[in-house]
Amino acid sequence: MSYPELEGREGAVHLLPLGATEPHGPHAPLTTDTIIAVGICVRAADRLFDELDVFVLPPVSYGVTRYGAEFPGAVSISEETLRSLVTEIAANFERIVLVPAHLEPEQVWTLRDLALPLFDITRKERAERLTDEFRAGAGHAGRYETSLVLADRPELVDKGRMRELEAKMIDMPAAILAGRTSFVAMGMDQAYAGAPAEATAEEGEQTFAVLTDMLVELIREVARA
Ligand SMILES: [Zn+2]
Repeated sequence: MSYPELEGREGAVHLLPLGATEPHGPHAPLTTDTIIAVGICVRAADRLFDELDVFVLPPVSYGVTRYGAEFPGAVSISEETLRSLVTEIAANFERIVLVPAHLEPEQVWTLRDLALPLFDITRKERAERLTDEFRAGAGHAGRYETSLVLADRPELVDKGRMRELEAKMIDMPAAILAGRTSFVAMGMDQAYAGAPAEATAEEGEQTFAVLTDMLVELIREVARA
Protein backbone atom coordinates (compact mmCIF):
# COMPACT_ATOMS: atom_id res chain seq x y z
CA MET A 1 0.00 0.00 0.00
CA SER A 2 1.02 3.61 -0.36
CA TYR A 3 0.57 6.11 2.47
CA PRO A 4 -2.48 7.92 1.02
CA GLU A 5 -4.38 4.64 1.22
CA LEU A 6 -3.80 4.64 4.98
CA GLU A 7 -5.11 8.15 5.64
CA GLY A 8 -8.05 8.19 8.02
CA ARG A 9 -7.74 4.51 8.79
CA GLU A 10 -5.90 4.73 12.12
CA GLY A 11 -8.43 2.43 13.75
CA ALA A 12 -7.48 -0.50 11.54
CA VAL A 13 -6.30 -3.72 13.13
CA HIS A 14 -2.65 -4.33 12.21
CA LEU A 15 -1.34 -7.88 12.05
CA LEU A 16 2.36 -8.43 12.77
CA PRO A 17 3.57 -11.78 11.38
CA LEU A 18 6.47 -13.16 13.43
CA GLY A 19 8.61 -15.83 11.85
CA ALA A 20 12.17 -17.04 12.22
CA THR A 21 15.23 -17.86 10.17
CA GLU A 22 15.77 -21.43 11.27
CA PRO A 23 16.60 -24.90 9.88
CA HIS A 24 13.42 -26.82 9.02
CA GLY A 25 14.63 -30.26 8.02
CA PRO A 26 16.70 -30.95 4.90
CA HIS A 27 13.62 -30.33 2.72
CA ALA A 28 11.90 -27.10 3.85
CA PRO A 29 13.13 -23.50 3.69
CA LEU A 30 14.76 -21.60 6.54
CA THR A 31 11.93 -19.09 6.13
CA THR A 32 9.19 -21.68 6.85
CA ASP A 33 7.82 -19.92 9.95
CA THR A 34 7.73 -16.53 8.25
CA ILE A 35 5.86 -18.01 5.26
CA ILE A 36 3.31 -19.59 7.62
CA ALA A 37 2.81 -16.45 9.74
CA VAL A 38 2.30 -14.29 6.64
CA GLY A 39 -0.02 -16.92 5.14
CA ILE A 40 -2.34 -16.84 8.15
CA CYS A 41 -2.38 -13.02 8.29
CA VAL A 42 -3.11 -12.52 4.60
CA ARG A 43 -5.98 -15.04 4.69
CA ALA A 44 -7.51 -13.42 7.77
CA ALA A 45 -7.26 -9.93 6.25
CA ASP A 46 -8.87 -11.22 3.03
CA ARG A 47 -11.66 -12.91 4.97
CA LEU A 48 -12.46 -9.66 6.81
CA PHE A 49 -12.09 -7.40 3.78
CA ASP A 50 -15.75 -6.34 3.68
CA GLU A 51 -16.12 -6.19 7.45
CA LEU A 52 -13.08 -4.49 8.99
CA ASP A 53 -9.92 -2.60 8.09
CA VAL A 54 -7.17 -5.15 8.62
CA PHE A 55 -3.61 -4.50 7.46
CA VAL A 56 -0.75 -7.00 7.35
CA LEU A 57 2.56 -5.45 8.42
CA PRO A 58 5.89 -6.55 6.91
CA PRO A 59 6.97 -9.63 8.90
CA VAL A 60 9.62 -9.93 11.57
CA SER A 61 11.75 -12.69 10.04
CA TYR A 62 14.05 -13.28 13.03
CA GLY A 63 13.23 -14.78 16.41
CA VAL A 64 14.75 -16.39 19.47
CA THR A 65 16.15 -19.45 17.69
CA ARG A 66 18.63 -21.40 19.76
CA TYR A 67 17.49 -25.01 19.44
CA GLY A 68 18.60 -25.23 15.83
CA ALA A 69 21.94 -23.45 16.34
CA GLU A 70 23.94 -26.61 15.53
CA PHE A 71 22.74 -26.43 11.93
CA PRO A 72 23.72 -23.89 9.27
CA GLY A 73 21.09 -21.23 8.70
CA ALA A 74 19.85 -20.53 12.24
CA VAL A 75 19.92 -16.78 12.90
CA SER A 76 18.94 -15.95 16.48
CA ILE A 77 18.18 -12.72 18.26
CA SER A 78 17.92 -12.35 22.04
CA GLU A 79 14.71 -12.12 24.07
CA GLU A 80 15.64 -8.52 24.88
CA THR A 81 15.97 -7.58 21.21
CA LEU A 82 12.69 -9.29 20.34
CA ARG A 83 10.94 -7.50 23.20
CA SER A 84 12.27 -4.08 22.14
CA LEU A 85 11.56 -4.61 18.47
CA VAL A 86 7.97 -5.75 18.93
CA THR A 87 7.22 -3.16 21.62
CA GLU A 88 8.52 -0.33 19.45
CA ILE A 89 6.69 -1.52 16.34
CA ALA A 90 3.46 -1.92 18.32
CA ALA A 91 3.74 1.62 19.73
CA ASN A 92 2.97 2.93 16.23
CA PHE A 93 -0.55 1.52 16.24
CA GLU A 94 -3.77 1.76 18.17
CA ARG A 95 -4.66 -1.86 17.42
CA ILE A 96 -2.19 -4.64 16.72
CA VAL A 97 -2.24 -8.43 16.91
CA LEU A 98 0.98 -10.46 17.11
CA VAL A 99 0.87 -13.55 14.91
CA PRO A 100 3.84 -15.82 15.57
CA ALA A 101 4.53 -19.10 13.77
CA HIS A 102 7.88 -19.74 15.46
CA LEU A 103 7.01 -21.43 18.74
CA GLU A 104 10.30 -22.00 20.57
CA PRO A 105 9.28 -21.57 24.24
CA GLU A 106 11.58 -18.60 24.89
CA GLN A 107 10.03 -16.84 21.88
CA VAL A 108 6.46 -17.51 23.03
CA TRP A 109 7.16 -16.51 26.66
CA THR A 110 8.76 -13.24 25.52
CA LEU A 111 5.72 -12.38 23.39
CA ARG A 112 3.26 -13.36 26.15
CA ASP A 113 4.99 -10.96 28.55
CA LEU A 114 4.29 -7.98 26.29
CA ALA A 115 0.58 -7.80 27.18
CA LEU A 116 -0.38 -7.24 23.53
CA PRO A 117 -3.07 -9.26 21.71
CA LEU A 118 -1.28 -12.50 20.81
CA PHE A 119 -2.41 -15.26 18.45
CA ASP A 120 -0.95 -18.04 20.59
CA ILE A 121 -1.71 -21.40 18.99
CA THR A 122 0.04 -23.25 21.81
CA ARG A 123 -2.94 -22.42 24.06
CA LYS A 124 -5.04 -25.51 24.66
CA GLU A 125 -8.31 -24.18 23.21
CA ARG A 126 -6.55 -23.36 19.92
CA ALA A 127 -4.10 -26.30 19.79
CA GLU A 128 -6.91 -28.81 20.10
CA ARG A 129 -8.42 -27.57 16.82
CA LEU A 130 -5.17 -28.33 14.95
CA THR A 131 -3.79 -31.57 13.46
CA ASP A 132 -2.82 -34.74 15.38
CA GLU A 133 0.87 -34.19 14.67
CA PHE A 134 0.76 -30.61 16.00
CA ARG A 135 -1.05 -31.74 19.15
CA ALA A 136 1.50 -34.53 19.65
CA GLY A 137 4.21 -31.86 19.92
CA ALA A 138 6.02 -33.04 16.79
CA GLY A 139 5.21 -29.98 14.73
CA HIS A 140 8.66 -28.80 13.61
CA ALA A 141 9.14 -29.17 9.84
CA GLY A 142 6.99 -32.32 9.89
CA ARG A 143 3.67 -32.96 8.17
CA TYR A 144 1.96 -29.95 9.78
CA GLU A 145 4.44 -27.21 8.84
CA THR A 146 5.57 -28.75 5.54
CA SER A 147 1.93 -28.95 4.39
CA LEU A 148 1.49 -25.24 5.13
CA VAL A 149 4.57 -24.35 3.07
CA LEU A 150 3.37 -26.63 0.24
CA ALA A 151 0.10 -24.69 0.18
CA ASP A 152 1.76 -21.29 -0.36
CA ARG A 153 5.33 -21.78 -1.62
CA PRO A 154 5.57 -25.32 -3.05
CA GLU A 155 8.62 -24.38 -5.11
CA LEU A 156 10.60 -23.92 -1.87
CA VAL A 157 10.11 -27.53 -0.67
CA ASP A 158 12.51 -30.21 -1.94
CA LYS A 159 9.90 -32.89 -2.55
CA GLY A 160 12.44 -35.60 -3.42
CA ARG A 161 14.13 -35.22 -0.04
CA MET A 162 10.80 -34.77 1.73
CA ARG A 163 9.45 -38.13 0.56
CA GLU A 164 12.53 -39.99 1.83
CA LEU A 165 12.38 -38.70 5.40
CA GLU A 166 11.35 -41.24 8.02
CA ALA A 167 8.77 -40.20 10.60
CA LYS A 168 10.22 -39.08 13.93
CA MET A 169 7.41 -38.76 16.42
CA ILE A 170 9.29 -36.71 18.99
CA ASP A 171 7.25 -34.87 21.63
CA MET A 172 9.22 -31.62 21.59
CA PRO A 173 7.52 -29.91 24.58
CA ALA A 174 8.15 -33.06 26.68
CA ALA A 175 11.80 -33.20 25.53
CA ILE A 176 12.23 -29.52 26.40
CA LEU A 177 10.70 -30.10 29.85
CA ALA A 178 13.21 -32.93 30.30
CA GLY A 179 15.98 -30.40 29.75
CA ARG A 180 16.89 -31.01 26.11
CA THR A 181 17.43 -27.62 24.56
CA SER A 182 18.74 -28.44 21.10
CA PHE A 183 17.23 -30.28 18.15
CA VAL A 184 20.08 -32.82 18.18
CA ALA A 185 19.62 -33.53 21.91
CA MET A 186 15.90 -34.12 21.20
CA GLY A 187 16.80 -36.75 18.59
CA MET A 188 16.13 -34.44 15.64
CA ASP A 189 19.42 -35.08 13.86
CA GLN A 190 18.08 -33.53 10.63
CA ALA A 191 16.25 -30.61 12.29
CA TYR A 192 12.73 -31.99 11.92
CA ALA A 193 10.16 -33.89 13.96
CA GLY A 194 6.98 -35.53 12.74
CA ALA A 195 6.28 -36.97 9.31
CA PRO A 196 7.24 -34.59 6.49
CA ALA A 197 6.84 -37.35 3.87
CA GLU A 198 3.06 -37.27 4.53
CA ALA A 199 2.72 -33.53 3.89
CA THR A 200 0.30 -32.30 1.22
CA ALA A 201 -0.79 -28.91 -0.06
CA GLU A 202 -4.41 -29.97 0.58
CA GLU A 203 -3.73 -30.52 4.28
CA GLY A 204 -1.88 -27.20 4.30
CA GLU A 205 -4.93 -25.38 2.92
CA GLN A 206 -7.20 -27.10 5.47
CA THR A 207 -4.89 -26.13 8.31
CA PHE A 208 -4.64 -22.56 7.03
CA ALA A 209 -8.46 -22.44 7.02
CA VAL A 210 -8.61 -23.50 10.68
CA LEU A 211 -5.84 -21.07 11.66
CA THR A 212 -7.65 -18.30 9.77
CA ASP A 213 -10.96 -19.04 11.57
CA MET A 214 -9.19 -18.70 14.92
CA LEU A 215 -7.29 -15.54 13.99
CA VAL A 216 -10.47 -13.93 12.63
CA GLU A 217 -12.14 -14.54 16.02
CA LEU A 218 -9.26 -12.77 17.80
CA ILE A 219 -9.23 -9.85 15.34
CA ARG A 220 -12.96 -9.28 15.88
CA GLU A 221 -12.38 -9.21 19.65
CA VAL A 222 -9.56 -6.69 19.25
CA ALA A 223 -11.65 -4.52 16.90
CA ARG A 224 -14.52 -4.45 19.43
CA ALA A 225 -12.26 -3.57 22.39
ZN1 LIG B 1 8.66 -23.83 12.17
